[in-house]
Amino acid sequence: MSLEITSKVAEIDAHIIDVLRHRVGKDERAAKPHDWYTATCLALRDVIIDRWMESTRKTYDEGGKRVYYLSLEFLIGRLLRDALSNLGLTREMEKALASHGFDLAALEELEPDAALGNGGLGRLAACFMESLASLDIPAYGYGIRYVNGMFRQRIDDGWQVELPETWLSHGNPWEFDRRESAYLIGFGGEVVDNGDGVEWHPHEKVEANAVDTPVVGYKGKRVNTLRLWTANPLDPIRLDAFNAGDHAGALAEQVRADALVRVLYPADSTPAGQELRLRQEYFFTSASIQDIVRRHAQYHGDVRTLPDKAAIQLNDTHPSVAVAELMRILVDVHGLEFNEAWDVTKRTVGYTNHTLLPEALESWPLPLFERLLPRHMQIIYAINSRVLREARKAGLDDRAIAAISLIDEGGERRVRMANLAFVGAHSINGVAALHTELMKSTVFADLHALYPTRINNKTNGVTPRRWLQQCNPRLVGVIKDAIGDAFLDDAEKLSDLNALATDAQLGERIAEVKRANKVALAGHLKQLTGIRIDPDALFDVQIKRIHEYKRQLLNLIETVALYDQIRSHPERDWTPRVKIFGGKAAPSYHNAKLVIKLANDIARRINSDPSVGGLLKVVFVPNYNVTLAERIIPAADLSEQISTAGMEASGTGNMKFALNGALTIGTLDGANIEIKDRVGDDNIVIFGLTAEEVAQTRADGYNPRAIIEGSRELQQAISAIASGVFSPDDPNRYTGLMGGLYDSDWFMVAADFDAYHAAQRSVDARWEDEAGWRASAIRNIANVGWFSSDRTIGEYARDIWGV
Ligand SMILES: *Cc1c(COP(=O)(O)O)cnc(C)c1O
Repeated sequence: MSLEITSKVAEIDAHIIDVLRHRVGKDERAAKPHDWYTATCLALRDVIIDRWMESTRKTYDEGGKRVYYLSLEFLIGRLLRDALSNLGLTREMEKALASHGFDLAALEELEPDAALGNGGLGRLAACFMESLASLDIPAYGYGIRYVNGMFRQRIDDGWQVELPETWLSHGNPWEFDRRESAYLIGFGGEVVDNGDGVEWHPHEKVEANAVDTPVVGYKGKRVNTLRLWTANPLDPIRLDAFNAGDHAGALAEQVRADALVRVLYPADSTPAGQELRLRQEYFFTSASIQDIVRRHAQYHGDVRTLPDKAAIQLNDTHPSVAVAELMRILVDVHGLEFNEAWDVTKRTVGYTNHTLLPEALESWPLPLFERLLPRHMQIIYAINSRVLREARKAGLDDRAIAAISLIDEGGERRVRMANLAFVGAHSINGVAALHTELMKSTVFADLHALYPTRINNKTNGVTPRRWLQQCNPRLVGVIKDAIGDAFLDDAEKLSDLNALATDAQLGERIAEVKRANKVALAGHLKQLTGIRIDPDALFDVQIKRIHEYKRQLLNLIETVALYDQIRSHPERDWTPRVKIFGGKAAPSYHNAKLVIKLANDIARRINSDPSVGGLLKVVFVPNYNVTLAERIIPAADLSEQISTAGMEASGTGNMKFALNGALTIGTLDGANIEIKDRVGDDNIVIFGLTAEEVAQTRADGYNPRAIIEGSRELQQAISAIASGVFSPDDPNRYTGLMGGLYDSDWFMVAADFDAYHAAQRSVDARWEDEAGWRASAIRNIANVGWFSSDRTIGEYARDIWGV
């Protein structure tokens, strides 16, 4: 150990002991592992705070522009390893803890996985926050501090059961309560015109309070802030009512405030659920916009210069009421003329679209919106009349004008949040090249005709710190030995590996790393599920939200077809495979939940069938989250990215797998296309209809029944599932699900089945060519450095934010 490290270890050690005594309140001998965990985090946090203050001071001194990233989700996962690694203190901390008999890795397991997000969109926000800090860009993330967040998934007899996530039950050492940063958020009431302007008198008010979490950039360059809002009642208890015996009624305001920050995505199948969701969106958006304008006014004075000092990015439509809220504050509070405020708003706001699925484009029933946000409704009408005037002037026809309108007039009138975000932003970006092109030609075709310069593309990325350096240290070691460590600062330098793609020694070492990761995963899955898997089998992984468009069903039907073939031809030389599935289904999404049950039913049958002799195993991993992803991805050989073409906006899971040396089997969808362009056609397995062919097939009248009847393998697999082979306890469990494939099959499982099945057999053949597989794995690692979120954030900074 060098002298410098030795003294650093001693310093950290003394600090931890001090924190343990004075802040955790425990003696070394009495302290439990969780006390040590807390002391470790708090001691590290002290190091972070110094840098945090330095970063903040620097930003104020330079008077530079800040980025504000508004997102209903931040799927940040665990923070201890991330912070240690980015501060370069991992080794020192390991040694300091070891001297007390503690293993850092074991303490890390005590940290809950902060589940403040749902899937890719929330994880993107977390990767972006890390890259913003790493690129030394001053930024705030704004969201909600959900007490329970996303549900925890338990699998009971194969079925998904949703449990509350209690990630805060032992406190949260990373956060700082900022009671002084408080804003009033209004709902309902009426708007009165007092002669020289309008005033909104909300009927209900709740206080938003900031809770800050530091976000540490790579090499501790900068520490930014993730500011999550929590809600408090103005009047926590009505003492008169309480004393009169109405104990519950006296606390009603507290309960209403709590409900705002309880869960992410409350079920919105009821009007009350819908209303809560709109309240949540307005709550965090209003608090954030008030905070942004307050900071600007305090340091720069005139709100007219807001676009020079602030860039507000809306992550999807959830915060799009920001457009109306910023207008309200500029006009009603700061007295700007409407036109001037509109110009300031547009120059400040950017909007990122994440989906073309029509059911995911938010809109609110007009009566609900008007009742909850009467002043915003007026502003939206005013914006709308301006936009429609511009559309008319530009010569657009009635159909186009109806499509552009912020109000959907068809049937029940609704407020279209995506249109509001579009017209109120100077930049509207898609998240992969194909997705951006489809935005222009489908959902936003008419808005694009009116504002042709606004749509631009920013292909997603993932942070290589979490998704390579931290999750796969063994691989990092081998890469360093091969090409040096420049790739740690610039992931695109991984391309130096291309020259060594066929180097047998490197291939061997990378294969050893993969095997070690697979052994570790096998042990973990054994513990989680009781299923024993062979680390020498091909690990074939599909982990992501369960949704019909992502087509876990295609994978499962193919699994059944393979099972059938192995049983019919046991003499053939089958490639041993482990099929790993994981993902949560929305609680009200019936078919998605049935797919989870099907995966578990198939797993039970196949795993207990001695006739497949361990050639095929199926595992459904419960409660997929960031921490599980960090364990599974480094151990994957094959990455399943098989969405119906045209439906996955980008995907980011696909990037993480390729970066860790898995080959992709996928459709020409989302960022798969750009991954293929970079790794080369020979190092990826592409199959199935293109987005254009999917659209054409649907337009021509798709007939899945004819396809199923024409494919022996497909028909046999479907009829086995439909007839109860995997569900003898309830033979009709999947009759409806399978019937849907015959009758409509919107996601084109049948159309792509044969191509997928053939592609999987070509994967088997590749696997048998060991040297070829290893070279392909290296070429994947070498060529996906471009998918670093540093590159993505660099593009946002240059093209959208001007920072
Ligand atoms: C990356 C990630 C996702 C997104 O995966 P996709 O395959 O792109 O849908 C979802 N959840 C978690 C936990 C992730 O880490």
